[in-house]
Amino acid sequence: MSDLDPYREMVEAYAIGALDAEERAAFEAHLQDGCADCERELREARWLVSQLAYLAPESAPSEALKGRLLRLVASEAGVVRFPEKPKKAAVPVWLWAGLAAMLLLTAYSSWTALRLRDEIGRVRQEMTGESEKRARLEKELASTKQEATMRAIWTSPESTKIMLIPPNKEMPSLEAKWHSRLGIVVTGYQVPKVSDNHVLQLWLIPKDGSKPMPSATFWPQPDGRLAKLVANPEGGIPEVKALAITEEPAGGSKQPTSSPLWVGAIS
Ligand SMILES: [Zn+2]
Repeated sequence: MSDLDPYREMVEAYAIGALDAEERAAFEAHLQDGCADCERELREARWLVSQLAYLAPESAPSEALKGRLLRLVASEAGVVRFPEKPKKAAVPVWLWAGLAAMLLLTAYSSWTALRLRDEIGRVRQEMTGESEKRARLEKELASTKQEATMRAIWTSPESTKIMLIPPNKEMPSLEAKWHSRLGIVVTGYQVPKVSDNHVLQLWLIPKDGSKPMPSATFWPQPDGRLAKLVANPEGGIPEVKALAITEEPAGGSKQPTSSPLWVGAIS
Protein backbone atom coordinates (compact mmCIF):
# COMPACT_ATOMS: atom_id res chain seq x y z
CA MET A 1 0.00 0.00 0.00
CA SER A 2 2.95 2.29 0.63
CA ASP A 3 3.37 2.57 -3.15
CA LEU A 4 0.23 4.66 -3.07
CA ASP A 5 1.65 7.02 -0.43
CA PRO A 6 1.93 10.34 -2.33
CA TYR A 7 4.19 11.78 0.36
CA ARG A 8 6.95 9.33 -0.60
CA GLU A 9 7.57 11.51 -3.63
CA MET A 10 8.25 14.51 -1.42
CA VAL A 11 10.87 12.99 0.79
CA GLU A 12 13.96 14.02 -1.19
CA ALA A 13 12.62 17.48 -1.84
CA TYR A 14 11.92 17.86 1.88
CA ALA A 15 15.41 16.63 2.74
CA ILE A 16 17.05 19.29 0.63
CA GLY A 17 14.60 21.98 1.69
CA ALA A 18 12.99 22.32 -1.71
CA LEU A 19 9.38 22.19 -0.60
CA ASP A 20 7.35 25.34 -0.29
CA ALA A 21 5.84 26.21 3.07
CA GLU A 22 2.49 24.58 2.34
CA GLU A 23 4.06 21.36 1.06
CA ARG A 24 6.46 21.29 3.98
CA ALA A 25 3.65 21.67 6.50
CA ALA A 26 1.68 18.87 4.80
CA PHE A 27 4.70 16.58 4.76
CA GLU A 28 5.56 17.26 8.38
CA ALA A 29 1.93 16.61 9.38
CA HIS A 30 2.20 13.31 7.52
CA LEU A 31 5.35 12.45 9.48
CA GLN A 32 3.56 13.43 12.69
CA ASP A 33 0.89 10.92 11.78
CA GLY A 34 3.65 8.35 12.10
CA CYS A 35 4.31 7.12 8.54
CA ALA A 36 7.26 4.79 9.13
CA ASP A 37 7.96 4.48 5.38
CA CYS A 38 8.37 8.22 4.90
CA GLU A 39 10.40 8.45 8.06
CA ARG A 40 12.80 5.79 6.80
CA GLU A 41 12.93 7.35 3.34
CA LEU A 42 13.69 10.71 4.89
CA ARG A 43 16.60 9.28 6.86
CA GLU A 44 17.98 7.81 3.64
CA ALA A 45 17.43 11.01 1.74
CA ARG A 46 19.22 13.04 4.40
CA TRP A 47 22.05 10.61 4.31
CA LEU A 48 22.14 10.91 0.52
CA VAL A 49 22.24 14.70 0.73
CA SER A 50 25.00 14.59 3.35
CA GLN A 51 26.96 12.23 1.12
CA LEU A 52 26.62 14.58 -1.80
CA ALA A 53 27.78 17.47 0.30
CA TYR A 54 30.66 15.77 2.03
CA LEU A 55 31.85 13.07 -0.31
CA ALA A 56 35.59 13.09 0.01
CA PRO A 57 37.34 13.56 -3.32
CA GLU A 58 39.09 10.23 -2.93
CA SER A 59 36.02 8.11 -2.25
CA ALA A 60 34.33 7.09 -5.44
CA PRO A 61 30.53 7.32 -5.28
CA SER A 62 28.93 3.94 -4.73
CA GLU A 63 26.90 2.39 -7.52
CA ALA A 64 23.87 2.38 -5.23
CA LEU A 65 24.17 6.10 -4.62
CA LYS A 66 24.71 6.83 -8.28
CA GLY A 67 21.77 4.61 -9.28
CA ARG A 68 19.51 6.23 -6.74
CA LEU A 69 20.29 9.70 -7.91
CA LEU A 70 19.96 8.82 -11.57
CA ARG A 71 16.62 7.22 -10.79
CA LEU A 72 15.56 10.36 -8.99
CA VAL A 73 16.63 12.52 -11.87
CA ALA A 74 14.84 10.25 -14.33
CA SER A 75 11.62 10.16 -12.32
CA GLU A 76 11.60 13.89 -11.94
CA ALA A 77 9.55 14.07 -15.12
CA GLY A 78 6.86 12.15 -13.27
CA VAL A 79 4.08 13.83 -11.41
CA VAL A 80 3.54 13.91 -7.68
CA ARG A 81 -0.09 13.08 -7.06
CA PHE A 82 -1.57 14.81 -4.11
CA PRO A 83 -4.87 13.63 -2.79
CA GLU A 84 -6.37 17.08 -2.79
CA LYS A 85 -4.66 19.07 -5.49
CA PRO A 86 -2.61 17.68 -8.37
CA LYS A 87 0.77 19.37 -8.37
CA LYS A 88 3.74 19.64 -10.59
CA ALA A 89 6.86 17.81 -9.57
CA ALA A 90 7.86 18.83 -6.06
CA VAL A 91 11.52 19.05 -6.96
CA PRO A 92 12.47 21.36 -9.80
CA VAL A 93 14.55 19.98 -12.64
CA TRP A 94 17.39 22.37 -12.04
CA LEU A 95 17.81 21.07 -8.50
CA TRP A 96 18.11 17.44 -9.56
CA ALA A 97 20.33 18.52 -12.38
CA GLY A 98 22.44 20.29 -9.81
CA LEU A 99 22.64 17.19 -7.65
CA ALA A 100 23.51 15.08 -10.66
CA ALA A 101 26.20 17.57 -11.61
CA MET A 102 27.51 17.39 -8.07
CA LEU A 103 27.61 13.63 -8.32
CA LEU A 104 29.45 13.82 -11.62
CA LEU A 105 31.81 16.35 -10.11
CA THR A 106 32.47 13.95 -7.27
CA ALA A 107 33.22 11.16 -9.73
CA TYR A 108 35.40 13.58 -11.67
CA SER A 109 37.11 14.62 -8.44
CA SER A 110 38.00 11.08 -7.51
CA TRP A 111 39.36 10.55 -10.99
CA THR A 112 41.30 13.79 -10.72
CA ALA A 113 42.54 12.77 -7.29
CA LEU A 114 43.96 9.58 -8.77
CA ARG A 115 45.66 11.58 -11.50
CA LEU A 116 46.97 14.05 -8.95
CA ARG A 117 48.37 11.22 -6.87
CA ASP A 118 50.26 10.00 -9.92
CA GLU A 119 51.41 13.53 -10.60
CA ILE A 120 52.58 14.03 -7.03
CA GLY A 121 54.47 10.76 -7.20
CA ARG A 122 56.14 11.91 -10.38
CA VAL A 123 56.98 15.35 -8.96
CA ARG A 124 58.37 13.72 -5.82
CA GLN A 125 60.58 11.59 -7.97
CA GLU A 126 61.74 14.65 -9.85
CA MET A 127 62.39 16.42 -6.57
CA THR A 128 64.55 13.53 -5.44
CA GLY A 129 66.46 13.97 -8.66
CA GLU A 130 66.64 17.69 -7.97
CA SER A 131 67.98 17.25 -4.46
CA GLU A 132 70.60 14.83 -5.77
CA LYS A 133 71.56 17.41 -8.33
CA ARG A 134 71.70 20.08 -5.64
CA ALA A 135 73.80 17.89 -3.36
CA ARG A 136 76.20 17.38 -6.27
CA LEU A 137 76.30 21.13 -6.94
CA GLU A 138 76.85 21.87 -3.27
CA LYS A 139 79.66 19.38 -3.20
CA GLU A 140 81.18 20.96 -6.29
CA LEU A 141 80.72 24.39 -4.77
CA ALA A 142 82.33 23.26 -1.51
CA SER A 143 85.30 21.82 -3.34
CA THR A 144 85.50 24.96 -5.47
CA LYS A 145 85.42 27.06 -2.31
CA GLN A 146 88.05 24.86 -0.75
CA GLU A 147 90.21 25.18 -3.84
CA ALA A 148 89.74 28.94 -3.81
CA THR A 149 90.73 29.10 -0.15
CA MET A 150 93.76 26.95 -0.80
CA ARG A 151 94.75 29.11 -3.73
CA ALA A 152 94.28 32.24 -1.62
CA ILE A 153 96.44 30.85 1.15
CA TRP A 154 99.02 29.71 -1.37
CA THR A 155 99.31 33.03 -3.13
CA SER A 156 98.84 35.43 -0.21
CA PRO A 157 101.96 37.39 0.79
CA GLU A 158 100.62 37.21 4.34
CA SER A 159 101.05 33.44 4.41
CA THR A 160 104.07 31.96 6.12
CA LYS A 161 105.89 29.34 4.08
CA ILE A 162 107.06 26.26 5.98
CA MET A 163 109.25 23.56 4.44
CA LEU A 164 108.52 20.15 5.96
CA ILE A 165 111.71 18.09 5.89
CA PRO A 166 111.70 14.28 6.19
CA PRO A 167 114.29 12.73 8.52
CA ASN A 168 114.23 9.81 6.05
CA LYS A 169 116.14 11.10 3.02
CA GLU A 170 114.18 8.81 0.68
CA MET A 171 110.96 10.63 1.45
CA PRO A 172 109.94 13.73 -0.49
CA SER A 173 109.82 17.12 1.23
CA LEU A 174 106.44 18.73 1.79
CA GLU A 175 105.59 22.38 1.70
CA ALA A 176 103.07 24.17 3.89
CA LYS A 177 101.70 27.71 3.89
CA TRP A 178 99.99 29.14 6.91
CA HIS A 179 97.60 32.07 6.73
CA SER A 180 96.54 33.55 10.07
CA ARG A 181 92.87 33.75 9.01
CA LEU A 182 92.42 31.19 6.24
CA GLY A 183 94.31 28.20 7.59
CA ILE A 184 97.13 25.93 6.56
CA VAL A 185 97.73 24.25 3.22
CA VAL A 186 100.02 21.22 3.12
CA THR A 187 101.21 20.05 -0.29
CA GLY A 188 103.53 17.41 -1.63
CA TYR A 189 104.30 15.09 -4.52
CA GLN A 190 105.24 11.43 -4.66
CA VAL A 191 104.17 10.96 -1.06
CA PRO A 192 104.25 7.23 -0.26
CA LYS A 193 101.04 5.43 0.64
CA VAL A 194 100.10 5.29 4.29
CA SER A 195 99.87 1.85 5.95
CA ASP A 196 96.43 0.25 6.07
CA ASN A 197 94.15 1.73 8.72
CA HIS A 198 96.53 4.59 9.27
CA VAL A 199 96.49 8.28 8.46
CA LEU A 200 98.94 11.13 8.33
CA GLN A 201 98.37 13.63 11.14
CA LEU A 202 99.57 17.19 11.43
CA TRP A 203 100.84 18.51 14.77
CA LEU A 204 101.46 22.05 15.95
CA ILE A 205 104.51 22.22 18.20
CA PRO A 206 104.09 25.10 20.68
CA LYS A 207 106.93 27.48 21.42
CA ASP A 208 106.53 27.14 25.18
CA GLY A 209 107.62 23.50 25.10
CA SER A 210 104.16 22.09 25.94
CA LYS A 211 103.02 18.94 24.18
CA PRO A 212 102.14 18.90 20.44
CA MET A 213 98.63 20.01 19.55
CA PRO A 214 96.78 17.48 17.37
CA SER A 215 95.50 18.83 14.04
CA ALA A 216 93.97 17.40 10.88
CA THR A 217 94.39 13.88 9.53
CA PHE A 218 94.73 13.15 5.81
CA TRP A 219 96.06 10.84 3.11
CA PRO A 220 98.00 11.40 -0.05
CA GLN A 221 96.03 10.72 -3.24
CA PRO A 222 96.66 7.40 -5.01
CA ASP A 223 98.99 9.21 -7.44
CA GLY A 224 101.10 10.44 -4.50
CA ARG A 225 99.90 14.04 -4.61
CA LEU A 226 99.01 15.71 -1.36
CA ALA A 227 96.99 18.90 -1.08
CA LYS A 228 95.26 19.38 2.23
CA LEU A 229 93.50 22.42 3.61
CA VAL A 230 93.71 22.47 7.40
CA ALA A 231 91.56 24.79 9.47
CA ASN A 232 93.25 27.02 12.01
CA PRO A 233 92.92 25.76 15.57
CA GLU A 234 89.71 26.87 17.25
CA GLY A 235 90.31 29.39 19.97
CA GLY A 236 93.11 31.20 18.21
CA ILE A 237 96.53 30.43 16.86
CA PRO A 238 99.04 29.62 19.60
CA GLU A 239 102.68 30.55 19.43
CA VAL A 240 103.99 27.70 17.31
CA LYS A 241 107.62 26.95 16.60
CA ALA A 242 107.15 24.00 14.24
CA LEU A 243 104.79 21.72 12.34
CA ALA A 244 105.21 17.97 12.37
CA ILE A 245 103.49 15.09 10.57
CA THR A 246 103.32 11.56 11.94
CA GLU A 247 101.59 8.39 10.88
CA GLU A 248 98.78 7.52 13.28
CA PRO A 249 96.04 4.91 13.56
CA ALA A 250 92.88 5.78 11.58
CA GLY A 251 90.94 8.53 13.29
CA GLY A 252 94.06 10.24 14.54
CA SER A 253 95.63 10.45 17.99
CA LYS A 254 95.60 12.89 20.87
CA GLN A 255 99.37 12.78 21.07
CA PRO A 256 101.90 11.42 18.59
CA THR A 257 102.41 7.65 18.76
CA SER A 258 105.30 7.55 16.28
CA SER A 259 108.27 9.68 15.41
CA PRO A 260 107.64 12.44 12.85
CA LEU A 261 107.87 11.67 9.15
CA TRP A 262 108.21 15.41 8.48
CA VAL A 263 109.18 18.37 10.60
CA GLY A 264 109.14 22.00 9.61
CA ALA A 265 110.43 24.88 11.70
CA ILE A 266 108.57 28.17 11.53
CA SER A 267 111.00 31.03 11.14
ZN1 LIG B 1 4.33 8.40 4.14
